[in-house]
Amino acid sequence: MSYPKPIQNLIHAFARLPSVGPRTAERFVFHLLKSGKKDVSELTIALKELIETVKSCEICWVFSDISPCSVCASPQRDPKSVCVVAEPQDREAIEKTNTYRGAYHIIRGVIQAHDENSLRGLKIPELLARVRKGGIDEIILALNPDLPGETTMMYLEKKIKEIAPHIKVSRLARGLPMGSDLQYADDITLGSALKNRTTS
Ligand SMILES: [Zn+2]
Repeated sequence: MSYPKPIQNLIHAFARLPSVGPRTAERFVFHLLKSGKKDVSELTIALKELIETVKSCEICWVFSDISPCSVCASPQRDPKSVCVVAEPQDREAIEKTNTYRGAYHIIRGVIQAHDENSLRGLKIPELLARVRKGGIDEIILALNPDLPGETTMMYLEKKIKEIAPHIKVSRLARGLPMGSDLQYADDITLGSALKNRTTS
C-alpha cells in the first residue's frame, strides 16, 4: 500500500519545509490534486519566478531581486553601523520600527550549542570579511534572546573582537522576554530594545 511515485516525491518535498510534518505534506498534495490544473500552474509559476528572479544581496545576504539590495545601495543609510540578524524576516521587523538607519548583515540561521555542523552555510565568514575590510564602527548583534541566539552572539563577538578590537559590539537591550522571537516582537518593544542597546 503506497502512493504513486510522483505523489510520494511531492510529499517528501513539502515535508522538508519548516513546521510541515508528513501528515500536512500529504494534505497539501491531495489538495493540489483535487483543485486541478489552475492552482498547480499558479504554484509552478510562483516557484519558477522565485528561483529565477530572487538572488542574494552580495553585501548583506538578504534575498532581493537586485544586488546590492535597496538598503545597501541607499545613500541615506549609514554603512558604519551594521546590524546582524539571523533571518531576513528579522530585518523586516527592525525596519518596521523605523528607528534604525544603518546597514544589515543576515547570517541566515544560528549556531546550535554542541553542534559543529550548525555553523555550515551561515554567512559568518562573509560578515567577518566585511569587518576585515574596515569602515565599520559598530556592530549590533540582534539575534533572538534564546540559547542558540546567545551562543551565536558570543561566537560572533569573540570573532569580531579578534579581528577588530576597536569595533563597538552591542546587543539589543533586555526587554524582549527570554526565548522570544524578534519577528513577533511589537514595534515599540523592539524599537526601544534597539535604541537602548548595550555593550558588554
Ligand atoms: Zn543588502
